[in-house]
Amino acid sequence: MSSFDVVVIGSGPGGYVAAIRCAQLGMKTAIVEKYSTLGGTCLNVGCIPSKALLASSHHYEELQHFADHGIEVPGDVKVNLAKMIERKQAVVDQTSGGVKYLMDKNKIEVFEGIGSFENATTINITKNDGSVEKIEAKNTIIATGSKPSTLPFITIDKDRIITSTEALKLKEVPKHLIIIGGGVIGLELGQVYLRLGAQVSVVEFADRILPTMDAAVSKELTKVLKKQGMKFYTSHKVQGVNRNGDTVVVKAESAKGEIITLEGDYSLVCVGRRPYTEGLNAEKAGVKLTDRGQIEVNDHLQTTASNIYAIGDVVRGAMLAHKAEEEGVLVAEQLAGQKPHIDYNLIPGVVYTWPEVAAVGKTEEQLKQEGREYKAGQFPFKALGRARASADTDGFVKILADKKTDEILGFHIVGARAADLIAEAVVAMEYRASAEDISRMSHAHPTFAEAMKEAALAATDNRALHV
Ligand code: FAD
Repeated sequence: MSSFDVVVIGSGPGGYVAAIRCAQLGMKTAIVEKYSTLGGTCLNVGCIPSKALLASSHHYEELQHFADHGIEVPGDVKVNLAKMIERKQAVVDQTSGGVKYLMDKNKIEVFEGIGSFENATTINITKNDGSVEKIEAKNTIIATGSKPSTLPFITIDKDRIITSTEALKLKEVPKHLIIIGGGVIGLELGQVYLRLGAQVSVVEFADRILPTMDAAVSKELTKVLKKQGMKFYTSHKVQGVNRNGDTVVVKAESAKGEIITLEGDYSLVCVGRRPYTEGLNAEKAGVKLTDRGQIEVNDHLQTTASNIYAIGDVVRGAMLAHKAEEEGVLVAEQLAGQKPHIDYNLIPGVVYTWPEVAAVGKTEEQLKQEGREYKAGQFPFKALGRARASADTDGFVKILADKKTDEILGFHIVGARAADLIAEAVVAMEYRASAEDISRMSHAHPTFAEAMKEAALAATDNRALHV
């Protein structure tokens, strides 16, 4: 039986990064993945394919504005969805192939099959042909991720009542796509099909989309997406999603008790994701689950079995690829005797619609709830020369800082390139910078990043220069 210092179960961004870091630190490492492609949800049916479709559909949408830039496009421009999906798959295949290359480069042994515990140190790998291979693990890192969840009364038929996985490979552009859940994934995929010509309606239980983000951000994105043609039914509780031939009927009740009925040809259920532990036999290793089905871990990401750790979507916290990666590195470095640390408050969250949304730190609602005294500074992109030159004038940067010390407590951005701009905020907050620090740093002109500086100027004695 082969034996390893570390066996990682699951090859998503948590698992494969953990494996690389373990190997870099000199541990004999193996990774077990049940699918034939590496990379997990993120690379295969998550971050990467959704961004590929967002990019393709964005190109198409931009074509509609070419005339404003003095570019005449001869003839009709048509969408070839099959080609778009084919390109997306090529991006996925290339990225997944890149993970395989990294495994080989770092001499990490890859096992294809379902990993399940026989006990705390023996793992059985059940292969596609039914055969079972046993391996011995001094330490194990569980990185089995998550799967789309649904509501008890909705049957996902994967044909017209679908999850994000099917939405990434539709064979036609829906006429009317009804999205259940106004969170990140629903809005991103909704915008893809909106751009391609679908009517898109979003039904959300909370009183706003992106309910965990800063309320000002939700309001701005709602305004922009409505302008783009997306319809919203917030404060609506879905009561049923049923299929009648090729028609999907969604019934929902408003907060006032009114029932609405929406008819479409596809319904995309995006009500969150659930931790995935099926087939793992966690209990045989003494690994306990929480009542929410997550693997229970302490602050060191150690499970109730001392030589087994868990990371990523399968444990508490934000379900984000970069959070999973940080946790993978943390566990590997702990195993090597180092003392790494993650500040969960500084894991940024991004929505890759256009305009993008990005945030880090506390929202204004959280600060109010905590009773913390704060000040806010906000700057609209429309006041920036660069934004006007690119015709990307929607949105703003909002900064929240401690009222007395001026330490930055949160950054919230809606606007072009917000996903990249947020990195400045993370760096500043990691170094516990003040709003004044940002306001006194030179930001190249003309850039979108100038809005970061201007918002900081606004937060410190209302000194914004361009409003
Ligand atoms: P996963 O990526 O889910 O990987 C787990 C792996 O474990 C899978 O490959 C699975 O097959 C394997 N596995 C499970 N059980 C076993 C077993 N018993 N034996 C062997 N293998 C097993 N996050 C972002 O940060 N940015 C984004 O832009 C973003 N976009 C997204 C878009 C969509 C449509 C979706 C669905 C998700 C998106 N996410 C995004 C979330 C991101 O994909 C997850 O947070 C991330 O993949 C979690 O990584 P993980 O390593 O914990 O698990």
